[in-house]
Amino acid sequence: MSTAAAETRIAGADDPMVPRRYAITRVRQDTRDTFTLLLDPVDGDPLTFKAGQFTMLHAFGVGEVPISISGDPRNPAPLEHTIRNVGAVTRALVNAHPGTEIGVRGPFGTSWDAADAAGHDVVFVTGGIGLAPLRPAILDVLAERDRYGKVLLLYGSRTPDDILYGDEMRRWADLNDVNVQMTVDNAPYGYQGKVGFVTELITRAGFDPRRAWAFVCGPEVMMRSAASALAGRGLPAHRIRLSMERSMKCGIGLCGHCQLRDLFICVDGPVLDYARLEPLMNVREL
Ligand SMILES: Cc1cc2nc3c(=O)[nH]c(=O)nc-3n(C[C@H](O)[C@H](O)[C@H](O)COP(=O)(O)OP(=O)(O)OC[C@H]3O[C@@H](n4cnc5c(N)ncnc54)[C@H](O)[C@@H]3O)c2cc1C
Repeated sequence: MSTAAAETRIAGADDPMVPRRYAITRVRQDTRDTFTLLLDPVDGDPLTFKAGQFTMLHAFGVGEVPISISGDPRNPAPLEHTIRNVGAVTRALVNAHPGTEIGVRGPFGTSWDAADAAGHDVVFVTGGIGLAPLRPAILDVLAERDRYGKVLLLYGSRTPDDILYGDEMRRWADLNDVNVQMTVDNAPYGYQGKVGFVTELITRAGFDPRRAWAFVCGPEVMMRSAASALAGRGLPAHRIRLSMERSMKCGIGLCGHCQLRDLFICVDGPVLDYARLEPLMNVREL
């Protein structure tokens, strides 16, 4: 029996601990270290999911990692995940060839529920690969663009070469009336764009804090200062949502790896509101 078959033979298709077999149909390189995997189920229906949810992706013989779904909830096939190559499992996933089978568990976790912001201005604040978990929420809003006021996307990356989905962001600006503002931490000599941290964009961004919602995803240090800057502009904490990352193994609230005081990030999160998170955001993960 192949390693893949051995690891998926455990019975019970509905068991959340049993991975479903998916085949990689395409690996798209987005930046130097970031790749998008397109997946189709080997059998059965495509996975339906809500914006903000994640799956556990299993590289057979290597290990399993949580990765947010980066595709469009309205078009769940092929299933998309955008992955930064940082270690053993992510390396195995992004280096896999089309046709390779991997395991998928989930979807797990809470949603951005961006529809709660209908009738209001919407501010997406994101840094680096944080744009990937936010992309499904942005697509949800753009699918019903008329229901929202101003839509802003404030995006920061380390360097111009690290900008993710650059062409798509330009399309959102041109076709969907999204006010896209980008900044980079470091730029080569002669770079024409803005240099500085994404949180600096929040101070001057043109939205009405009395009627805006914000959705924030990125490194925790960036989310902490972004949420604080948004609150400083007058956004109430319950209208600021963040996606938390904690090391996790089971994805279903059993193993406790992702516990943050009374929360299990895998089931109570990853998307949580700032009212709930603010007192917890200084707790280091175990
Ligand atoms: C809910 C959730 C959603 C995620 N979504 C994405 C995504 O869409 N795209 C993506 O590229 N990554 C995402 N991650 C992070 C991803 O799970 C880790 O990068 C991955 O587990 C690293 O595994 P590895 O074996 O390749 O590297 P490891 O050798 O395990 O780790 C390499 C480095 O990454 C750090 N690291 C490991 N796990 C995490 C983590 N959970 N958060 C922050 N740093 C970590 C380690 O400390 C180490 O420095 C998500 C994590 C969570 C919890």
